[in-house]
Amino acid sequence: MTECVIIDGKARADALRASVTAQVARLRAEYGLQPGLAVVLVGDDAASQVYVRSKGEQSLAAGMHSVTHRLAVDTSQAELIDLVERLNADPLIHGILVQLPLPAHLDAGAVLERLNPAKDVDGLTMVNAGRLASGLDALTPCTPLGCLILLREALGVLSGRNAVVLGRSILVGRPVAGLLLAENCTVTIAHSKSRDLPSICRQADILVAAVGRPEMVKGDWIKPGAAVIDVGINRVPFRDPVQAALGKTKLVGDVAFKQARQVAGWLTPAPGGVGPMTVACLLRNTLTAAARGAGLDLAAP
Ligand code: NDP
Repeated sequence: MTECVIIDGKARADALRASVTAQVARLRAEYGLQPGLAVVLVGDDAASQVYVRSKGEQSLAAGMHSVTHRLAVDTSQAELIDLVERLNADPLIHGILVQLPLPAHLDAGAVLERLNPAKDVDGLTMVNAGRLASGLDALTPCTPLGCLILLREALGVLSGRNAVVLGRSILVGRPVAGLLLAENCTVTIAHSKSRDLPSICRQADILVAAVGRPEMVKGDWIKPGAAVIDVGINRVPFRDPVQAALGKTKLVGDVAFKQARQVAGWLTPAPGGVGPMTVACLLRNTLTAAARGAGLDLAAP
């Protein structure tokens, strides 16, 4: 059997960012158009602060106009919607991202529905989700788009392949399935009520795991030579009891990596696989939204 290819998500994300940066420079030089991204963070959730900082820095580095709105944790629904409406109307802003999760007193669904779908670079509005589900062109969520780009690069044409998506969340599982269906894969969506997951997974030429369960997918769940995309990011204690006693933790995916690499043809590591693609795809979506808003047909990087 040929050796498993470990897909380098960081290198692919670097290449995508470089390509977006070049297209932004072209838009600015030829059309005087600078794509603009607004990120809205409510509250002081530590992980969200890190993500938001990275999105701001990377959009600036790509030559975009970048604005981050940091709102107090007790911001009201009306205040947040008011900001969203102002960003909808701002001609310098082409992409708006409301960082999730929002504090518990806020209704994320109601806020997202006030976003102009043409600026919904996270692809989470009903309009974009509905367009994807209907097989129409849409702004699609960034992590699923990252999975698709990695799969296209690994396998080339995806048409006709059996794909199994483990997980059916709005953020990951459903849009991944929609994107793979649009590529003419035969798609199975499995979830917590599915029976006999190992045998469902063994049918997959393409297996995408997005369950949030540390190393749930074992080596013998994988069809030999399959492409396995591990979306999961799970923090677990070290196995070594000394390290664990010190409270040390590490990140693992939803796939048992060491077992999987003995069987799969392609495999993303976690971390270092899908994760880095997410922000790069956010930049790509912002570029797409800006170009479409100006009526330009830009070849997607
Ligand atoms: P959710 O918790 O929203 O959804 C998990 C899905 O997995 C649900 O559909 C659930 O089924 C299913 N599931 C849970 N347990 C099982 C099980 N034992 N067997 C089968 N199915 C199961 O998670 P997300 O989709 O938001 O995220 C999934 C993972 O991806 C997480 O680890 C998250 O951290 C990671 N992630 C990584 C990103 C990145 O940039 N790399 C971005 C976003 C997420 P049901 O619907 O029946 O409850």
